[in-house]
Amino acid sequence: MNNSFDILFEPIAIGPVTAPNRFFAVPHATGHGWNQPSGAIALRGMKAEGGWGTVAVQITEISPDTDMANHPMERIWDDGDIPRHAAQVEAIKKHGSLAAIELGHGGMRARNITSGEPVLGPSALPVLRPEVPIQAMAMNLNDIALFREKHKAAAIRAKRAGYDILYVYAAHDLSLLSHFLSVRTNRRDDVYGGSFENRIRLLREVLQDTLEVAAGEQAVALRFSVAEPGVKNGLTHDGEGRDVVEALAELPDLWDVNISGWPNDSKTAQFSLEGYQLPYTDFVKSVTTKPVVGVGRFTSPDLMVSLVKKGRLDLIGGARASIADPFLPTKIREGRTDEIRECIGCNICVSMDSYGLPIRCTQNPTISEEWRSGWHPEGPAISKNRRSHLIIGAGPAGLESAVTLLKAGQHVTIAEAREEAGGRVIREAKLPGLASWKRVVDHRLQILSQSADADLFLNSRLSANDLAEFDADTIVLATGAHWRRDGVGSTNFQPIDFDNKKVWTPDDVMDGSVELDPGSTVVVYDDDHFYMASAITEQLSQTGCKIIYATPMPTIATWTDQTLEQAAIIERLVGLGVALFPNTKLNPDLSFKNTLAGQPQNIEQADLVFVGARQPDNRLSLEPGQFTTKKPVLQAGDCVAPGIIQAAVLSRHTIARKILNEHELPTDKLRDQIPVL
Ligand code: ADP
Ligand code: SF4
Repeated sequence: MNNSFDILFEPIAIGPVTAPNRFFAVPHATGHGWNQPSGAIALRGMKAEGGWGTVAVQITEISPDTDMANHPMERIWDDGDIPRHAAQVEAIKKHGSLAAIELGHGGMRARNITSGEPVLGPSALPVLRPEVPIQAMAMNLNDIALFREKHKAAAIRAKRAGYDILYVYAAHDLSLLSHFLSVRTNRRDDVYGGSFENRIRLLREVLQDTLEVAAGEQAVALRFSVAEPGVKNGLTHDGEGRDVVEALAELPDLWDVNISGWPNDSKTAQFSLEGYQLPYTDFVKSVTTKPVVGVGRFTSPDLMVSLVKKGRLDLIGGARASIADPFLPTKIREGRTDEIRECIGCNICVSMDSYGLPIRCTQNPTISEEWRSGWHPEGPAISKNRRSHLIIGAGPAGLESAVTLLKAGQHVTIAEAREEAGGRVIREAKLPGLASWKRVVDHRLQILSQSADADLFLNSRLSANDLAEFDADTIVLATGAHWRRDGVGSTNFQPIDFDNKKVWTPDDVMDGSVELDPGSTVVVYDDDHFYMASAITEQLSQTGCKIIYATPMPTIATWTDQTLEQAAIIERLVGLGVALFPNTKLNPDLSFKNTLAGQPQNIEQADLVFVGARQPDNRLSLEPGQFTTKKPVLQAGDCVAPGIIQAAVLSRHTIARKILNEHELPTDKLRDQIPVL
């Protein structure tokens, strides 16, 4: 072990239990809930195997009146749920880690659609999802007493399941306890409303109830959001957020602190740097003697050490860091810090929550496949047959298949047409706010550079004729895609004849080949709906041109709502002086139509950047001579079906695993997949 990191591996007492080190995998949505328990258990067990000293389970609904369906949370509604939790505890504890459970009641965030129970809240107000036509019932004193009983009963069940740490949850505006605390949602005038002492009463009572259940055998943690930046009448870290910590300072055995709501807590790399929550949470250590865990996309071991040494945190919390690399603690302990698969802060993991699906990760293609596919994040086992593989294209997909094959003891040769490896990732990483994308490439190039079994050839565009010269057992085509300029996008499948008018694409912008007259007007037309058009808009706003963003959708950068970035993107574009035109359709003469009014949209325009669909690059040019390879050729990812980077990485990882598993995909079948050449 590198001694400078020793401090991270000190055992830490948390009330009556002791964490073996300071790495704390905090609760986070996994998309695997009560309905897919085996996946959830294996996912959390893997974090324990990877060295996280404490592994916490996500929000666990305490009773049917906090039914969060369609988000697959955990449940501990009754005794029937205990065996599932006991199996989870065992999977975590068998690696020597502590198991924690985040008991929660969603209050005005629950919908109770499947349970049919009334939604509960401090006051009779609509639920905290304006688009959902449901109201909460104002709880009377009996309802409050009953809720406390249910919380206690859930804590008893959690104790019986074997958890070491029982959480009380008052964070993210996703908790009944937060709703009682907040003046925004608590309009009561009894002993639970009005003054601060009254609004904090229920939180204090539930903490005391849980400590009573724990009876000195389990630790009790309080997860609390100390600030709600940007929320009208929200908590602030120098106002009532701090007052709460001061009022309850020594009551819980552990403070797990963050900021609310979820878009603030899970900020992406576009809008935050590592450690972005510290300015809000720093004060907590000065108010309590109890251990404090905090988050902020920590991946740097040096920063972690300094946080502990400077007394800013006792435990290093990781949600996304533990998704991207379940083995982060082990790698630090073994001095393999250059092998850490750092989270890039893209929130693809988060996006799966709104779909109610098991999480996916751009950096870690094995997440959620630990149980279903038996995949290990540190790679497949060394295969018995050593073969050699040619990979064409060094984008994220090509690099992922190379690394997966390498880890299984195979030999790989990678040919890349450009002078730099990394494909779309390296190009996109140069756009504003996307620099961390580069980590996808850096991590994989680092592994390749350490292996004698990997040959990477840059400036090597291969044609079909070249393939015969390679003595490879398998050929993997990972040649990517390019942006279309013919008007085809997510809402228009019919190519547009632009009558030779100049239309730029994101590739032109990234290549630096766009020529704009200073002071002219440029329209960025978004028919892609993820991050690309807003990133291009931001880039072009630095040219001195007037930039307009238009989209046929009713909202701006629509899919970024799934990654919790949409509001921040809009704020940034507006701040840059960009005019936004939703519900706007592009006409072939480069004029626009307002689709709501059915009228021409008056947009002054000189140049157009069209951000639409992408065209797969799945053909190798056939030069004179005959294409002779008899080798199996595989393709997947962007060169087949362009998508997000995570999808390209996952598809290539899958292909590499299939190559290794000859039974699953025999050679004949591989040959059937020869692409159009
Ligand atoms: P993906 O996301 O599927 O990895 P990318 O577009 O990011 O796709 O990467 C594809 C890479 O393949 C690019 O770097 C591109 O330069 C390279 N490439 C495309 N055609 C060839 C070829 N014929 N020979 C070698 N490299 C190629
Ligand atoms: Fe990090 Fe992106 Fe993976 Fe989420 S999906 S853990 S944000 S790399």
